[in-house]
Amino acid sequence: MIRIFFKLFFLFLGGYILYLVYKFLTEPLNKEKEGKKSEVIKGDLVKDPFCGIFLPKDHAIKLEYKGETFYFCSENCKTKFLEEKNK
Ligand SMILES: [Zn+2]
Repeated sequence: MIRIFFKLFFLFLGGYILYLVYKFLTEPLNKEKEGKKSEVIKGDLVKDPFCGIFLPKDHAIKLEYKGETFYFCSENCKTKFLEEKNK
């Protein structure tokens, strides 16, 4: 009778450890997915007027030019854009 009790106890313990391992392995992945999702959603998309690429406003390089606001994907695009405008 006692042996059956111990068997059940270890079975429960083993199951619990497996559950913890499973939780440990799956939780960081879920958090990562959620993080990626929210990164895509957050912020508006803006267009780089030089190369035509769309990028999140948060990652864009902002430029105020003659009362207008432009957003660029890189410093290079910003420089080229200003070069074109100043020709
Ligand atoms: Zn660009």
